[in-house]
Amino acid sequence: MTDRDSRDALEFARECYRGIDLYAPNRAPCAVDLSDNTNLWGIPPAAERALRGAAAATVTRYPALYAGALKQALADYAGVETAHVVTGCGSDDVLDSAIRAFAEPGMRVAHPEPSFAMIPIFARMNGLVPVPVPLGRDFDADADAFLETRAPIIYLCSPNNPTGNLLSPGAVEAIVARAPGLVILDGAYAEYAGEGEGARLSALALASGRVLVVRTLSKAFGLAGMRIGYGVGAPAVVAEVEKSRGPYKVNALAERAAVAALTEDLGWVREHVALAVEIRERLAAGLRALGLAPLPSAANFVLVPVPDAAETARRMRERGVAVRPFAGLPHVGDALRISVGPWEMMEACLEGLRSVL
Ligand code: PMP
Repeated sequence: MTDRDSRDALEFARECYRGIDLYAPNRAPCAVDLSDNTNLWGIPPAAERALRGAAAATVTRYPALYAGALKQALADYAGVETAHVVTGCGSDDVLDSAIRAFAEPGMRVAHPEPSFAMIPIFARMNGLVPVPVPLGRDFDADADAFLETRAPIIYLCSPNNPTGNLLSPGAVEAIVARAPGLVILDGAYAEYAGEGEGARLSALALASGRVLVVRTLSKAFGLAGMRIGYGVGAPAVVAEVEKSRGPYKVNALAERAAVAALTEDLGWVREHVALAVEIRERLAAGLRALGLAPLPSAANFVLVPVPDAAETARRMRERGVAVRPFAGLPHVGDALRISVGPWEMMEACLEGLRSVL
């Protein structure tokens, strides 16, 4: 019996935890890692300066309880007041806290299938029941199907991970208008969907008392290791999430780096988003030249159907390129999700794919 087996067998462990596996994608180091959609151009220079210049007290003292300075910088970025913002240790933490705050154990969390793999895990971690709702052939949300679940929490993701498409505003608005509880709209990749997308998400959050827009500094802002996420919603909504989240979740170094990026380096962020969007289209063209049919993407990754994704990804890893395999996705079948980065990395990926396929 391994340690894991004996832990799984604990009879005094929480019953609903029995079916929960650790989230464990292959994270073994790889020369060209295109598996997690982070910013492959690096860190905003102002954030790096802020980290290097931090006083010892930043580490020896507790951070701010609810990251007030970060809230202010995020509110300015999102075009809202600080009362509309809640922060967290990555958007994972904001999603987890929101799910916990708005449903009693045993209740349901409706989420698109396919979508962000952590949502059913967060649901189970909080004693809730994940209810997958298939996306349509065009990967849009079927508003009626979501509403029919009567789930007190409906999670939507736009651009959706892993398909890369934006949900249609009509579908999202129809769900928000008739949802019985909270609608979480995950905009982790919003920066890559065009200039107006962030403002559109903030407007949706402000127009409704039951929407929480969840965003992150892990992607466009290049700060995944700092674990900074945030939610935007009505003050009463974010207050509930903040209660559930608890104090001290954003560490002081991370807050310092994030505030520097948000207040001094939006130019760097926008420049690298524009580059990613341009290279995304070049990557798609390169994939088509290999005879593949990548899905259109509004994010910083591309989903491309391939035969036997797990084996294809394994063989690409042997050639020094990590991509994320998906098996049997609805309407897609097996596919690889490839993060967009500097063109040399895309060339390595295309070369790896060419030799593997
Ligand atoms: N939402 C989506 C759709 C994601 O793809 C991810 C990261 N893969 C997250 C949220 C979580 O990101 P983080 O916790 O780093 O903010």
